[in-house]
Amino acid sequence: MTAPRTDGGARPREATGPAGEAIASAPADGDVIEDLLINNRAAAEVFTNSGLGLAPARELAVVTCMDSRMDVFRILGLRNGEAHILRNAGGVITDDVIRSLCLSQRAMGTRRILLMHHTDCGLHDIAEYEFKALIEREVGVKPWWALESFKDPFDDVRQSIQRLYMSPFLAHKESIRGFVYDVDTSLLHEVRLSHR
Ligand SMILES: [Zn+2]
Repeated sequence: MTAPRTDGGARPREATGPAGEAIASAPADGDVIEDLLINNRAAAEVFTNSGLGLAPARELAVVTCMDSRMDVFRILGLRNGEAHILRNAGGVITDDVIRSLCLSQRAMGTRRILLMHHTDCGLHDIAEYEFKALIEREVGVKPWWALESFKDPFDDVRQSIQRLYMSPFLAHKESIRGFVYDVDTSLLHEVRLSHR
């Protein structure tokens, strides 16, 4: 086994991973991916999750943002094998999220959907038109996708819940709940649709 690096740098506050394995901290100018490969070998040394089933044990799918501060497993007390975790910028219900949820429900038995957006999101208050116009000027092609920026995370969760209810491709809509995660307190705040 290669000894994990412990020379500080990019991640000085965390020395162990979720399973207690040693984590190499990458120096700011180091090769981050090489460091992650070292981490992987250390994690494999203490790996105990072999043999888990393909279908999520809690019949749960979580849709959330890619934000680097959100450790979904820790936030929700989930363990490997218990839920599908779908992440993108903002935790937006896109066609690809619907694709994944459709497979999750119909092929792997999930029945519950938990939406989790958050405070201080990178999509908050970005001017979509200007953002896309800037890209078009730079690369010559106008993005054909929506950035899905928003002004209020609670409204954005409502929007996502409504998109799920409107999708014809989801088999199970009886347990859909949405939340805003506070990145400063780690608490979830539930968002409800006014008419439900
Ligand atoms: Zn975000």
